[in-house]
Amino acid sequence: MSIINAPRGTRDILPGESWKWSYIIRTASEAMNDFGFSEIHLPIFEHTELFSRGVGETTDIVEKEMYTFNDQGGRSITLRPEATAGVMRAAIENNLCVQGASAKLWNWGPMFRHERPQKGRYRQFYQIDAECLGIPNAAADVEVIALSIEIFRRLGLKNLEVVINSVGCEKCRPIYREKLLKYFEAHKNNLCETCLNRLERNPLRILDCKKEACGLIAEGAPDIYDSLCDECREHFAEVRAGLERLGFAYKLNKRLVRGLDYYTKTAYEILSGDLGAQNAVAGGGRYDNLSSAIGGGKIPGVGFACGLDRIMLVMEEQGCSFGKAPEVLVYSVTLDDSSRPAVQILTHELRKNNIAAACDTSGRSFKAQMKSASACKFACIIGPDELAGNSASIKNLQDGSQVLVALKDIPDYIKNLSRICHA
Ligand code: ATP
Ligand code: MG
Repeated sequence: MSIINAPRGTRDILPGESWKWSYIIRTASEAMNDFGFSEIHLPIFEHTELFSRGVGETTDIVEKEMYTFNDQGGRSITLRPEATAGVMRAAIENNLCVQGASAKLWNWGPMFRHERPQKGRYRQFYQIDAECLGIPNAAADVEVIALSIEIFRRLGLKNLEVVINSVGCEKCRPIYREKLLKYFEAHKNNLCETCLNRLERNPLRILDCKKEACGLIAEGAPDIYDSLCDECREHFAEVRAGLERLGFAYKLNKRLVRGLDYYTKTAYEILSGDLGAQNAVAGGGRYDNLSSAIGGGKIPGVGFACGLDRIMLVMEEQGCSFGKAPEVLVYSVTLDDSSRPAVQILTHELRKNNIAAACDTSGRSFKAQMKSASACKFACIIGPDELAGNSASIKNLQDGSQVLVALKDIPDYIKNLSRICHA
């Protein structure tokens, strides 16, 4: 029979890499805690409508990237392509933001988009996501941007660039949309096919097109800053002032509109100089209309999502530290079969003392067991002599020294030794 491989665009995160992922998540989790964000766990699939209404019908995600299917009950279900809509749904459903209450929430996990797989772009990828709900003030935008920057600072990422823009609100964006439409209509003949399709439906998205010809046209497009209403203009000025107050460098990019319809006012991205084409490690912004789009009351929000897969690529590229790889401290070894039960009990006792310990379970030779032990700091060797004396020979595998220790004293002995080793 033929071998079954993982579906295109998915991959296995194997032990050599998975501990590094854990480090990134642990570091992000600590920063989230320090900023007062609480973790939530969300379903991986939701009703399709959440995304078609929340993310928006004219977005790439909803138009062509969603994994959507009917379940056995005939309901249309979608594997989540992003987290924000689900977080907002959960906040509405669980009344987290009633009567002016705010909620600062974070989560991480797999997202699914049917895209063309390439370096840094997968069909199942992972995001770390933070959302601050219930606060319309620019200070919340600054807090969220600062949190994303802080996560990257703690991870040791270098060569990052923060790019921000304002995409207006339901009052001023329609006016800007009309100006854009007029402008792009005049340049219709030079737009790519995708952008021609976008023209009527969502001309803002043309600003975002990566094709060179469209990019050149977009450069000359009307400036969104000239169309912002007073409220959006003021909000943007406050966000910028806040970032400057905290000493964050950023760039303005009037063409940054982001792929999701629900953004209002602030949109931002964090780009890495070490990622090539897939250069965004995080994206986010404000989405004051998302809640009403999915049937909730007025709940403003601002948040970001960073791509774990891409963070991982950048960290490897830049030689960042992932902390200490997990290791087994003690490997217990039998000289012959008679001491196998004693080795099993010793390993059990060590583990009850919170000492990382392992032993052979497949009846391998002494030599083979010592080979496994070589990845550890200590080997506890039990042969007939040790067994007779209720003891084990503890070999320090770094300097080769060996001492005989009574079995009952071994956990304390190891604890002391490893304390000295770490000092
Ligand atoms: P891109 O422009 O690269 O397609 P996006 O704007 O679609 O990104 P967002 O929806 O803002 O991405 O998601 C936030 C982050 O999630 C991105 O900055 C990126 O790091 C990561 N990301 C998005 N799509 C993928 C994917 N298919 N594979 C890996 N990471 C992804
Ligand atoms: Mg995308």
